[in-house]
Amino acid sequence: MTPSGEDVPCTIPGCGELAVRSLARSEVRKAFPELSEEGRRAPLCKLHYKQWKKATRESRELERLAW
Ligand SMILES: [Zn+2]
Repeated sequence: MTPSGEDVPCTIPGCGELAVRSLARSEVRKAFPELSEEGRRAPLCKLHYKQWKKATRESRELERLAW
């Protein structure tokens, strides 16, 4: 238990790690399209947050190249 009492699991199916960040679900689905649209927030663990950041950075990169 943490003092905050706000331990939430990562939203990625099968992950099970504790979340370190909570993001808008629509944002997270850009990197993890397999996520359901259920709910408004998507808590992510450290690893998946990193993957999300990487994935969204790459897609922004691609968009720029497409111009
Ligand atoms: Zn995770």
